Amino acid sequence: MEYTYEIAVVGAGAAGCAAAIYAGRSGASVAVFDKGMGGGLTLEAPKIENYPGFKSIGGVELAEKMKEHAAEYAEMKYGEEVKELKVTENGVEVITNRGKYFVGAVILCTGAEHRKLGVKGEKEFAGKGISYCATCDGFFFKGKKVAVVGGGNSAVIEAIYLKQIGCDVSVIHRRDELRAEKALEEEAKEKGIQFIWNSVVEEIIGKEMVEGVKIKNVKTGEEKILEVSGVFISIGEEPQNQLAKQIGLKLDENGYIIVDDMGRTSMERIFAAGDVTGGVRQIITACAEGAKAALAAMKAIGKRSPY
Ligand code: NAP
Repeated sequence: MEYTYEIAVVGAGAAGCAAAIYAGRSGASVAVFDKGMGGGLTLEAPKIENYPGFKSIGGVELAEKMKEHAAEYAEMKYGEEVKELKVTENGVEVITNRGKYFVGAVILCTGAEHRKLGVKGEKEFAGKGISYCATCDGFFFKGKKVAVVGGGNSAVIEAIYLKQIGCDVSVIHRRDELRAEKALEEEAKEKGIQFIWNSVVEEIIGKEMVEGVKIKNVKTGEEKILEVSGVFISIGEEPQNQLAKQIGLKLDENGYIIVDDMGRTSMERIFAAGDVTGGVRQIITACAEGAKAALAAMKAIGKRSPY
């Protein structure tokens, strides 16, 4: 059977765009499927200052540049969700909400989504004071008291961003030291962000909208209510591994797709790159992984590749 496209990339975030650029430039016909408008978690970064070539760039701008670049070499299929993959000896059937395609290899760049706290009030107040993205929603909380939950780089960056737009910010972290880089911690402290240590959120409370969080000190057992209008939950990510599970790819104990250093998975014709494979989860590493997976995938479609 003839391929509709030689390579299908699933996900138009950093890894997917890089994979499309490298596969397209290596001579493959490529389609990139994304259930939304692409961009991935890059879209949510208020400011990116560690991507070489750009001293400082907004996430939305960088994601747009990557998508435009990928579109030079691949057909970008936005709003088209891959529902199912069927791996055969000769290729992979890609079944989407719009149609069926037969391809030589698939590169899964499906990324990760925000981890949920799983406490009372989190679902009820979604969009009513609870957010997972300061860049997207921070503006609505200008001049108000907000809490950021988490102690990683994302939580601290979001806290700094919220402070910058005029929020009164407290970071609630379950331990007494941050996971975030020291430089970020120092910047946050200099800017007057308060830290509530050794504390977990037990409930998010309010009537129509969020009015506060009930927190408990895990060392003393003391419970209190912190009055806030907004809660920004930034406690890490979960891999979007539904397709990987559906075809039976090997995953690690946290659900990330196991890959070798060229993005090869436990199945021939299936490759993976970016946050769905875990690792250091940076934009630059996602790009590098996408590039390598694309080069490795060339062999699966019967083309010469040095990798
Ligand atoms: P992360 O580094 O995994 O940090 C998650 C934070 O949330 C940790 O402090 C963790 O606490 C806390 N946490 C996890 N589950 C929790 C729960 N159920 N309740 C309360 N707290 C919980 O996640 P991230 O900050 O989203 O970053 C993801 C990756 O992207 C990381 O590799 C990070 O370095 C990277 N990143 C880099 C940059 C950059 O500019 N270089 C920016 C953003 C993200 P513990 O510390 O106690 O485990």
